[in-house]
Amino acid sequence: MTVFDKDTSAYWMPFTPNRAFKKNPRIIESAAGMYYTTKDGQQILDGCAGLWCVNAGHGNDKINGAIKSQVDKMTYSPAFQAGHSLAFEFAERLAQLFPGDLNHAFFTNSGSESVDTALKIARAYQKARGKPEKIKLIGREKGYHGVNFGGLSVGGIMPNRQAFGPLLSEVDHLPHTHDLSKNAFSEGQPTHGADKAERLLDLIALHGAHTIAAVIVEPMAGSAGVLVPPVGYLERLREICSAHDILLIFDEVITAFGRLGDSCAAARFNVQPDLITTAKGLTNGAVPMGAVMVSDRVHEAMMTGPENMIELFHGYTYSGHPLACAAGIATLDVYGQEDLFGRARDLAPYWQKAIHSLKRHDAVIDVRNIGLVGAIELQPREDKAGERAFEAYLKAFDAGLLIRTTADIIALSPPLIISEEQIDFITNTLDDILATIQ
Ligand code: PMP
Repeated sequence: MTVFDKDTSAYWMPFTPNRAFKKNPRIIESAAGMYYTTKDGQQILDGCAGLWCVNAGHGNDKINGAIKSQVDKMTYSPAFQAGHSLAFEFAERLAQLFPGDLNHAFFTNSGSESVDTALKIARAYQKARGKPEKIKLIGREKGYHGVNFGGLSVGGIMPNRQAFGPLLSEVDHLPHTHDLSKNAFSEGQPTHGADKAERLLDLIALHGAHTIAAVIVEPMAGSAGVLVPPVGYLERLREICSAHDILLIFDEVITAFGRLGDSCAAARFNVQPDLITTAKGLTNGAVPMGAVMVSDRVHEAMMTGPENMIELFHGYTYSGHPLACAAGIATLDVYGQEDLFGRARDLAPYWQKAIHSLKRHDAVIDVRNIGLVGAIELQPREDKAGERAFEAYLKAFDAGLLIRTTADIIALSPPLIISEEQIDFITNTLDDILATIQ
């Protein structure tokens, strides 16, 4: 008897309609390189790098080897008041990788924890420098910053928020930048929409810069359906934040570690934030881990109290976990040795051309891309939002391709090891499927 022959309600699955899923389960047993293998032995090409995390492909030998040898050495060491050398080494490597003076890593276990950690650091920093009234946090409509209360509060996706209020007070939101009337079928960064950054000036006029601690945005919004920042938008946010003494946080849980063809979006767009949140590609998804990269300015302001005092009353039992650090160091080695960020950059033009070929279908109202990420937005069916894209999801799975959908948007973010032939497989499969979707 397999687990699916009996009641399966013991496992409450995340972000999944549990009752519908368990009537028609899709069970993955193993994964290697670009492919999953299902319980029934079907090969599925991973069009999403897991959940935007397996950038070096599944089951990388070097990463697995590093985890295995760390298992034999030590699987836990206390995170508070003692440390192990891999955590120091990994932080040092990350400081070298991230641009500018983002020289300090605070380790967490997920993207959600990284976001809430960054928001707490932002407030603590303002207090530490004698500006305790700077507490407001500005997020953005359509933003996804994980599922903890801070991230939910600055996030801007209604279904994620609505069951859980009241959320944090002292939060406001910028408008999103998604505008199909002007930017549909943009290749790379859309040209219209930098002016949306000016709305930060309205929020400053409303609340006063003296009350605002930080602005947090995803440089490229992933979960809301791959919203690529308009040319000049991030630069303008940076200018306004600097002019008004407001911290700028980039949530790079998706965009760090090669997705856009560079170490992170800050490097790709040449805009320097004060903090960066990461997770996912940090360990190639092999061991759960997140990190907040913190600039010298913020770090130094926190290090000025009495030397024997804890500077930040915050942390997790598993911060800097030895298995995660071993996986992370090996992951950075693999990214470097295989030049995967360069590979993503080199493949981007091929990828762009391939996915934009799907615009020929009537149901497709937008195709967008940057680096090795893309989205195909479908016209929603009347009163049945999300149904078209989910039909594509189910048909793709049957045809041996895993995609991700959010509302009526198909999001694609394959492992950076993908070949041109595998890109063709993705677009040919979707081409066939879109032809059947009315
Ligand atoms: N921030 C962003 C931008 C994300 O994309 C995600 C996850 N998709 C998170 C935060 C939350 O990460 P996690 O699921 O690891 O908590």
